[in-house]
Amino acid sequence: MATFKIAIDGPAGAGKSTIAKLAAKELGIVYVDTGAMYRAIGLAAIRKGIAPDKDITAVEAMLPEINVEIAHSETGQKVFLNGEDVSTEIRLPEVSVAASDVSRIPAVRTKLLELQRGLAQKTDVIMDGRDIGTVVLPDAQLKIFLTASVEDRAMRRFEELVAKGVECDFDEVKRDMQYRDKNDSEREIAPLKPAEDSVYVDTTGNSLEESVKIIMDIINERRKSL
Ligand code: C5P
Repeated sequence: MATFKIAIDGPAGAGKSTIAKLAAKELGIVYVDTGAMYRAIGLAAIRKGIAPDKDITAVEAMLPEINVEIAHSETGQKVFLNGEDVSTEIRLPEVSVAASDVSRIPAVRTKLLELQRGLAQKTDVIMDGRDIGTVVLPDAQLKIFLTASVEDRAMRRFEELVAKGVECDFDEVKRDMQYRDKNDSEREIAPLKPAEDSVYVDTTGNSLEESVKIIMDIINERRKSL
C-alpha cells in the first residue's frame, strides 16, 4: 500500500510546525520539519563567519563539509550538524534569517531535497516547509497551505521566543518575518507558493485549538476518501 503523505507549506509563524506536530501525534505518524535543516546550514554559515546573503560561493564551498541529520525523539525532531545536536540553537532569530538566505542557493536545496525525500520514502509522514507540496513531495495525498496575517504570525513568534527566554523586540521579529516572507516568495528556485492542488487555510484570529481542529478535520476527511 502507498504511504500516506501530508505536505504543509506556508510562511513563517503560520503555526505549521505546532499543528503538524500535534497532528502527527494524533495520527501516529512521523513529523518532519524541513525548516530545521535549512536552519542547520544557516547556523553553519554563521559559525564560519560567512554572510549568507552576500557570499554564495563561500556557502557552496562549505557544503561538502556539512552533514545534517535528523532523529525522531519523544519530544519531537532533533537536528544534528556534523554530529552535534543543534536543535535549540537553530531557533535563534539570527539563524532564521541566515536559513532564509542560504535557502535561496540551489546547491543547498539540492543537498536537502535528497535528505527530505529519503525521510518520506518508506513511512507515512507529515512534512512542513515552503516547497513540500510543490517540489519535495508532489505526490502527497494531501497538501495544505497554511497562512495568517503578518501581525498575527509575528505576535505568535514573539510570544514563543519570550516564553523560551530569548530576549527580543516585537518590531524586530516582525521585520525579520517580512524579510523572510519576501525572500522565500520571490526566490527563483522553489519559491513559497501554494501548490495548485492544495487546501488553503488562513488562521488569522484563530486560537491554536481552532486551527488544529480545522486541520484535523481536513486530514480525516481526506483519509476517509482514500
Ligand atoms: O520553517 P522555518 O521558519 O524553520 O524555516 C526557516 C527558513 O528555511 C525559511 O524562512 C525558508 O527560507 C527556509 N525553508 C525553505 N524550504 C523549506 C523549509 C524552510 O526554503 N522547505
